[in-house]
Amino acid sequence: MIIAITCILTVGVLLYILGVRPKDLPAPQPVSPYQHLDERKAAIYENLRDLQFEYRVGKLSDGDYQQTKKDLQKELAQVLAEVDRVREQLGAAKPAKAITTPPKPTKFVCPSCNAEFEKDLKFCGECGKPMRKAEA
Ligand SMILES: [Zn+2]
Repeated sequence: MIIAITCILTVGVLLYILGVRPKDLPAPQPVSPYQHLDERKAAIYENLRDLQFEYRVGKLSDGDYQQTKKDLQKELAQVLAEVDRVREQLGAAKPAKAITTPPKPTKFVCPSCNAEFEKDLKFCGECGKPMRKAEA
């Protein structure tokens, strides 16, 4: 009886080790299907920033910089493609395509005097007129 229990335990432990080992992370159910991709994207952006910094302070040669940048951009493209794929899979539920949502403008331009602002101001800091164009 004890031998049987020991055997079962041994097999169980082995299965546990073999089964868990390949995927070290128990992968908790992701909050959103994009979350891990977003994290990877953020990590790549961070790497790119670091890379640029190191290049600027002269720690990297031109060739190293270009090569690493290319690699990171390739990885980024893969992640973005993956995001698109996931979105497409989920897209069946909501037909609204991502392309139809206008990208957030990085600059806000006064329709009256064309002054540019980083922030979405209600009134132009230059001429004081309303910044929002009447949207159709
Ligand atoms: Zn203005």
